[in-house]
Amino acid sequence: MASHIVGYPRMGPKRELKFALESFWDKKSSAEDLQKVAADLRSSIWKQMAAAGIKYIPSNTFSYYDQVLDATSMLGAVPPRYGWNGGEIGFDTYFSMARGNASVPAMEMTKWFDTNYHFIVPELGPDVNFSYASHKAVDEYEEAKALGVDTIPVLIGPVSYLLLSKPAKGVEKTFSLLSLLPKILPIYKEVIAELKAAGASWIQFDEPTLVLDLDSHQLQAFTAAYAELETTLSGLNVLIETYFADLTAEAYKTLTELKGVTAYGLDLVRGTQTIELIKSNFPKGKYLFAGVVDGRNIWANDLASSLSTLQALEAVVGKDKLVVSTSCSLLHTAVDLVNETKLDDEIKSWLAFAAQKVVEVNALAKALAGQKDEAFFTANASAQASRKSSPRVTNEAVQKAAAALKGSDHRRATNVTARLDAQQKKLNLPVLPTTTIGSFPQTLELRRVRREFKANKISEDDYVKAIKEEIKKVVDLQEELDIDVLVHGEPERNDMVEYFGEQLSGFAFTVNGWVQSYGSRCVKPPIIYGDVSRPKPMTVFWSSTAQSMTKRPMKGMLTGPVTILNWSFVRNDQPRFETCYQIALAIKDEVEDLEKAGINVIQIDEAALREGLPLRKSEHAFYQKWAVHSFRITNCGVQDTTQIHTHMCYSNFNDIIHSIIDMDADVITIENSRSDEKLLSVFREGVKYGAGIGPGVYDIHSPRIPSTEEIADRINKMLAVLETNILWVNPDCGLKTRKYAEVKPALSNMVAAAKLLRTQL
Ligand code: GLN
Ligand code: ZN
Repeated sequence: MASHIVGYPRMGPKRELKFALESFWDKKSSAEDLQKVAADLRSSIWKQMAAAGIKYIPSNTFSYYDQVLDATSMLGAVPPRYGWNGGEIGFDTYFSMARGNASVPAMEMTKWFDTNYHFIVPELGPDVNFSYASHKAVDEYEEAKALGVDTIPVLIGPVSYLLLSKPAKGVEKTFSLLSLLPKILPIYKEVIAELKAAGASWIQFDEPTLVLDLDSHQLQAFTAAYAELETTLSGLNVLIETYFADLTAEAYKTLTELKGVTAYGLDLVRGTQTIELIKSNFPKGKYLFAGVVDGRNIWANDLASSLSTLQALEAVVGKDKLVVSTSCSLLHTAVDLVNETKLDDEIKSWLAFAAQKVVEVNALAKALAGQKDEAFFTANASAQASRKSSPRVTNEAVQKAAAALKGSDHRRATNVTARLDAQQKKLNLPVLPTTTIGSFPQTLELRRVRREFKANKISEDDYVKAIKEEIKKVVDLQEELDIDVLVHGEPERNDMVEYFGEQLSGFAFTVNGWVQSYGSRCVKPPIIYGDVSRPKPMTVFWSSTAQSMTKRPMKGMLTGPVTILNWSFVRNDQPRFETCYQIALAIKDEVEDLEKAGINVIQIDEAALREGLPLRKSEHAFYQKWAVHSFRITNCGVQDTTQIHTHMCYSNFNDIIHSIIDMDADVITIENSRSDEKLLSVFREGVKYGAGIGPGVYDIHSPRIPSTEEIADRINKMLAVLETNILWVNPDCGLKTRKYAEVKPALSNMVAAAKLLRTQL
C-alpha cells in the first residue's frame, strides 16, 4: 500500500510564509523569526502527511521564494552582478537574485509551464563556475528525519534545470545550455552522495520538461545525464517525476529507458493518453507513481473512478509496483478547506484542497490494498452524485444556448475598415487618439470604502456617493489632461475577474483559497462550479453614470471570457471551452446592454488569453480557435458604430498574432513596455493589421515618469511601421497600482507627445 505526494504548498494555510517574508524584507523581523515560521510550516506539513498515512513524503519542496532559484543556489550559479563571493548562499544573495537590491535589479521571472506560478529563470553562460553552494536539500531531509519523518528529497532534474534556463547576456544567440550538463552533474553527484550518507533511500528528480515538444538532441540529454549519474545513484530508488501533460511516445520511451531509474511519476489527469502508453509498454520491475489526484484544481477526486483506473494499472505494472500519487505538486491548489468559513456545506462537499487531497491519495492507496474505508468512499460518491444533479450546477437554458454555439461561427457582419469609418463619423476623434487602459490609482481611502461597504459598515447610498465622487474626479482629470477617449477608472473593482465573478451565477469565492503566484505573492482564484449566467447588468450603472459626466466618449470596461476562465478554478465536469462559451454569452448580454445605454466604445480585456495556450503545439490551434471565438461571441451583435476595444498584457504576442487579428476587435491596446522591437518586428515582417492598435507608449509598472520627447520618440518608431490612421496612444496597462503624483505628469506628457506629433503629420 503506497502513496506519494509530488510536492506541497509552502505558503501555509493562512499565508503565514507570506507575512513572515514581507516582515523580514521590511526589516520588521529577524532572519531567525523567518526561519522559525518556515521550520514550523515544514514540520506541520510533514507531520500532517505522515499522520494521513502517506508513505513517500517529499522534502525540499519548501522554498523561501522559488524552487528553481533553490536549484540555482544549490549549483552556485549566481550571476556575477550580485557580487557573491562563494560559501553557502545566504538570504542576502538569495533574495537579491529574487527581488533585486538597491543597486541591482532582480533576475527575470517567467511562468512555470502553463500554471500561474512564476519561477526565477537561471541565467547561464559558458563561464559560470558551478559549485555546491546550498545544502538545503540535505538540511531539509535531516530536519524531517529528526522529526521522525523519512522523506524523499526532491530536486529539479538536471536536464529540466538547463532547459528552463536562458543564456546569459552576450551569448544569447550562440550558447547551447545543454552543453553545461557535464559541468552541473558533478554538483548533483555531491548532493546525491550527501543525501545517501544522510540515510535517504529514495530520491525524486522533477523533470517536467519531458512533457514539452522536445527534439531528439534534447531527449538524448536525459539519457546522457542519468547514465552519468547511474553509479552515484546506485543503492537509491530513483523517481523521475513528470507532470502537466502527456508524454510523447518518444519522450515516454526515453524516460522508461533511463539508466539507474526505478520509478516514473506520470500525470494521469492532464495526460489523457498516458494510460495507453503504460498499457502498451511498461518496463518490468519498475514502479509507477500514478498521478490520479489533480494538483491543479480544487475538486474532490472521483474516488470510485480513480480506483478503477488504478486497478487497471495494477494489472499492468504489478501490485507492489503501483504507487498512488498526485498529478503534480499541490503547489498549484489551495491549502486547506478547513479554513473556508463562508462556503456552504454542499459546495464544500465537492471540493478538496491540498490537505484534503493528501487524504484522498491515502484513501485510494488503502483501497487498492484491500483496506477500503467504506464510509469515506460512500461520502465521496454521494458528493459526486450531488454535484452531478444539483440544480445549482445545471441551468438548462444556459446549456442549450452554449451548445448552440458549437460548430457555428460568430463575427460582425461588416469588415473592420468599414466599421472604423462608421465609428469615426460618430466619435470624431483626432489622429493618434489618446486613451488609457481602464483603472486609475486606487488610494487607501478608496479601498477602505469598498471594504466597509462589503462588510455592511456603510450604506449603499454612501457607497454609491463615494464611488461617484471618485469617478467624477477621474473624469475631470482626463478632461483637464485632454484625453480623447475616457475611462471611469474602475474604482468599484477590487479585481478584474472577481468583480464579474461576484455578479455572475455559477461562481463561488473562498476566504483562504490562496495559491502562490510568485515569491510572497498569492492569488485567490474564483471557483466556477456551475453553468454561468448573468442575472442582471453588471457595469451599466457605473458606465452610464460616468458617460453622463462628459461629452467625450466613455469606454465601457469589461473582462473577457477567456481571461475570466484562465484566472479561475474551472469546473472539470465539462470541457473548458464549454464553460468559456457560457461566460461569453453572459458578457455578450452586458455588451449589448452597455450599447443600449449609449456607450459607444466598449473595451473587453483579454489580459490572459495567451496564458491559456496549451503546452504542446499540437493543441494550440484548437485552443486558439475556441478562445478567439469566445471573444467574438461577446461582441458579434453590436452595431458597426460601436467601437470594440480589447487589451492584452504582454508584448511577446508574436506567436499568437494571427489569433489577435482573428479576434476582429476594432482597437487593441497592448503592453509594449520593455521592447518596441519585438512587437514592431511582427508588423515589419509584413503582417497586415488594419484595426486600431495602441502599443503602450510607457511602462506603468515603474514609478518613473517618461518625458514628452521620450514618448514622442517611441510613437515615431511605431509610425515607421504602422499606418498613421490606426495608431492609438496609451500607456501599457491599467494605472491601479500607481500614484496620482506619477500618473498626472506621465499622462500629461503622453498627451503632449501625441499633440506634438499631430502637428508634424
Ligand atoms: N482594465 C484593466 C485595468 O486597467 C486591465 C488590467 C489588466 O490588463 N491587467 O486595470
Ligand atoms: Zn494589461
